[in-house]
Amino acid sequence: MILAELDGSIRTLKGVGPAALRAFARIGIATQRDLLLHLPREYQDRVTPVSIAESMRSASREQASVSCNTVARVVAHDYVGHGARKTLKVYVQDHSAVGALVCFGRNFLATRLSPGTTVRLAAPFSYRYGEPSASLFEFEEHDAPMRHFGRILAVYPLTEGLNQGLIRAAVEQALSTSARHLEEVVPDALRGRHNLPPVSSTLRAVHQPATVAAGEQARRALAYEELLLFQLRLGERSARRARFTRRPTPLPRQSIRRAKESLPFTLTADQKTALAEIVADLESSRPMARLLQGDVGSGKTLVALLSALPHIEAGGQAVLMAPTELLARQHAENAARLLEPLGVRVALLTGSVPERARRPLLDAVSAGETDLVVGTHAVFSDSTRFHDLRYVMVDEQHRFGVVQRAAVLEKGRNPDLLLMTATPIPRTLALALFGDMETSTIRMMPPGRKPVRTHLARMSNEGKVYATVRHELSAGHQAYFVYPLIDPNDRTELKNAEAMFERLRDEVFPDYCVALVHSRINDEEKSRRMADFAANRVQVLVATSVIEVGVDVANATCMVVEHAERFGLAALHQLRGRVGRSELQSYAFLVYADELTEEAKERLKILHATTDGFEIAERDLGLRGPGDLTGFRQSGFLRLRAADLSRDADLLQHARDDAAQLRRNDLELQRYPALQRAMRAFDAREEFAP
Ligand code: ADP
Ligand code: MG
Repeated sequence: MILAELDGSIRTLKGVGPAALRAFARIGIATQRDLLLHLPREYQDRVTPVSIAESMRSASREQASVSCNTVARVVAHDYVGHGARKTLKVYVQDHSAVGALVCFGRNFLATRLSPGTTVRLAAPFSYRYGEPSASLFEFEEHDAPMRHFGRILAVYPLTEGLNQGLIRAAVEQALSTSARHLEEVVPDALRGRHNLPPVSSTLRAVHQPATVAAGEQARRALAYEELLLFQLRLGERSARRARFTRRPTPLPRQSIRRAKESLPFTLTADQKTALAEIVADLESSRPMARLLQGDVGSGKTLVALLSALPHIEAGGQAVLMAPTELLARQHAENAARLLEPLGVRVALLTGSVPERARRPLLDAVSAGETDLVVGTHAVFSDSTRFHDLRYVMVDEQHRFGVVQRAAVLEKGRNPDLLLMTATPIPRTLALALFGDMETSTIRMMPPGRKPVRTHLARMSNEGKVYATVRHELSAGHQAYFVYPLIDPNDRTELKNAEAMFERLRDEVFPDYCVALVHSRINDEEKSRRMADFAANRVQVLVATSVIEVGVDVANATCMVVEHAERFGLAALHQLRGRVGRSELQSYAFLVYADELTEEAKERLKILHATTDGFEIAERDLGLRGPGDLTGFRQSGFLRLRAADLSRDADLLQHARDDAAQLRRNDLELQRYPALQRAMRAFDAREEFAP
């Protein structure tokens, strides 16, 4: 068995009940393999002693203090506050100082921490409430066997319903059962060259390292393996493309000219360049594989639609894939407006097209009576056949898996491929992800756009934000409100879309029309509400991040993101891109909770400082740590579990070289069955999005 094949459910692990199973599922963990690759966010050193005084000294304005790791005696109790808010304070003393443990909501600790008790203690002390104190702390009785002390502890990314202890115990079980004897995937020669220990020991070392450095080393070993597989996949893709050539054929340009003339504006210089690059590819001796990148609103869709015209004029068909029903609809409407006057026959094919209507639609596509199909995943289905598909365009490409994209390409004979992304790709990543593709970049925005003004606001200052929004509404404009959660039963204190929808509708903006969209509202209803917003029948749209992608309402001038600290940089940048789509001055309000992590603070500062998507992408890459699931999920490039491209650029380069060498010697990797199996397993999960 190789690691990639550890498909057994985590359900069989002790301590993982139905609730934990659901919580794990929320962060993408279903199998033992997923669990083992849920890598620690950081390690806590419970080996090296740190006294209370040393912990205090490490505290600074910018950074949380280093946790103490000491043996302390409980010297006294005190209580602060009254009634339900009465909170226990436990004074502890080690050889260096006295400090207070503030037991918010944990007054029951009074018995375990009774005066005279000696404990092992880990707590970041700082000067608060007039004395050295800590409200986060872990301890165990000094006379009990060491469990969470005397070693390096892994700290995992969590979600509601999980805790560190639960994850550690589950990981320990997986390590000592299914992961005890794993086959190696990386060929011996490469393991030797890079000093890689057996993968079973690497896994144990990453979760239970002897030193912090050993943990990091193990992570890098896993990262190398991951990057090697990824580079092998890329190499295969480009090798396959290189094998196919065709006769270069000039294509007609008449319809592009006419479409451009019909536009009420002229293309930006970047749009012109991109369009020219694409059309040149369409006429070349190899099928196009090109990535078109540019910030939201930079005019990619328009370039794509225009670039489809030469093929269509020459009698071929094109398809434009969009990740959501909403976006597909919008593209279809734009396409119809722009292209139907030229005689182009456009059809919309999505999951919600009823069966009755679908049949004739599919017939028209297979008979060649439709020139351009705009669709969602429904296009992948076997029943969709094209007469002569020559051009595949994929919007927000990272929302589709490799297998899905391959399925569309299969519907034509080596059609040209254009991938679009509004998530700018940092240079470091571009090579890794799209090393085998050409790229076109639209950097400038259409003229007349005013940069969105971004304001940061504390949750307690939300009143001011609402007042500014009201001002915009009274000027006839519209606003988005975005929340990280949709479900009030999620037992968290976070404001959530449903509850806030009611509040905004009933209390804050009772004189305007307020609507709610989120992922659990069915597509038809969602489209209806979006259409109402687009037509200004609704002025305030409350949503979860479903509106992140592509929605285009030029009259909306306010984007309010509450609990902005909960969103990744890329997601916030995308959300902000929903406004500022006209000559009107637009605003983004990033409302954050009072308690912020350093990283969240940093993210908000970056957004405040710049609207340049490329800069944001570069900074984003620098900010993320290993195992930061949300980060990569949200940016959506790649589901790297171990590799961290901001730190592992050297590994990436090795992996590229090694992959090229393996392929040179053995194109089909026939000598490396374990590698083949690993790649198949990754494909099945659509792990490698690009
Ligand atoms: P993207 O797909 O990059 O987010 P779109 O193609 O949807 O951007 O364009 C955003 C909006 O800008 C659309 O309403 C489009 O009609 C308009 N637009 C595109 N190019 C130009 C241009 N050169 N000048 C003015 N408006 C433009
Ligand atoms: Mg777009």
